[in-house]
Amino acid sequence: MARLAGATLPDARGHFGAYGGRFVPETLMAPLEELERAYRRARSDRGFRRALVGLLRDFAGRPTPLYFAEGLTRHLGGARIYLKREDLLHTGAHKINNCLGQGLLAVRMGKRRLIAETGAGQHGVATATVAAHLGLVCTVYMGEKDMARQRLNVFRMQLLGAEVVPVASGSRTLKDAINEAMRDWVTNVESTHYLLGSVCGAHPYPMMVRNFQSVIGWETRQQILRAEKRLPDSLFACVGGGSNAIGLFYDFLRDRRVKMIAVEAGGRGPELGQHAARLSSPGSGDGSRLRQGSGGRARPGVLHGTYTYVLQDKHGQISTTHSVSAGLDYPAVGPEHAYLRERGRVEYTAVSDEEALEAARVLARQEGIIPALEPAHALAELLKRAPKMRPKEIVVVNLSGRGDKDMDILAKTLPPGRGGQAGQA
Ligand SMILES: *Cc1c(COP(=O)(O)O)cnc(C)c1O
Repeated sequence: MARLAGATLPDARGHFGAYGGRFVPETLMAPLEELERAYRRARSDRGFRRALVGLLRDFAGRPTPLYFAEGLTRHLGGARIYLKREDLLHTGAHKINNCLGQGLLAVRMGKRRLIAETGAGQHGVATATVAAHLGLVCTVYMGEKDMARQRLNVFRMQLLGAEVVPVASGSRTLKDAINEAMRDWVTNVESTHYLLGSVCGAHPYPMMVRNFQSVIGWETRQQILRAEKRLPDSLFACVGGGSNAIGLFYDFLRDRRVKMIAVEAGGRGPELGQHAARLSSPGSGDGSRLRQGSGGRARPGVLHGTYTYVLQDKHGQISTTHSVSAGLDYPAVGPEHAYLRERGRVEYTAVSDEEALEAARVLARQEGIIPALEPAHALAELLKRAPKMRPKEIVVVNLSGRGDKDMDILAKTLPPGRGGQAGQA
């Protein structure tokens, strides 16, 4: 498993500087405290660690390769590019790292039921998979709109024995599914563990999910030292809630010379509602400017139990968001990212839907790898920067998931003459 790094943050109350914490109804305070205690005990327990290491290896497929992308390196003519192949994991994305950790923890806590929220369905599928493997009952909350756009993942969850509950409130997407899952947890907390899918929500989730995902960077560090005898110059990852990004970055945070670039969904443009850029400014090419159109923008606020940057209109109403990639389509961001941005440790930027789709096509053609549209955002930023880098520079991109789930969208945007329907999309 991840070296359970002796991080100094968050503090005892779950704060990353000004961000994080625990902003929940009174009824959830005790369950969150119980969860934190159980997690702290588990992480220093050899039996728990051995079980998790075993499942990550034999069930999920770790370690994942760190692959030198020779074709892409040659194509871009700049830095040496490595891909961390989380797309090769069981269920197709990094989500399984966290689900196995929390699933084992639930068993230790004597909980027989897992609940989860899901947007695109990747986290729901990973949770349903772990529930089936560990013999637990599973309920997944999913917005009605997402159920319609991600039907295949709904079938996968059902086949794995999970109940998928449609959520018809609000925008009928991820944010509303989280609300429903929290409501369920309040009612059934005796029997139920809430398996949150990213580094969001109330303490201890941002810390715990980060630690389960930090296996990504821990492996990368050893692999790049073996391959290149030195640390990389920069790391690239996409940011939805922020778990695959912090998972890659975490073990390098103290290495001041390692630059980190986190890429958000710039969607269709800078207008509020058209993107999911919380820590950067879409379309400006300048991650330092947070102000957006229409008087609305991302600013600190509370969503789903944590204090962080939240996209909101000028009246403080949570904004709708848009991204071609459902996994990046969320109005808040993990509190540790808000902190890392404030400290200037990580650079946050955004690319558009179009740029991400083009990057997915480039990787497919140059490497024979079809990425999910989420990490295609990280690749799109790399496509802009790599040609300007020196040939000695070493770059690692977190390829957080594979593109199978996005084939419908990719098919609609194939250039004419390649079987696609460009111009109609
Ligand atoms: C869910 C998902 C993401 C976004 O979630 P993070 O918590 O930001 O990592 C990114 N990539 C893939 C493939 C996903 O499934």
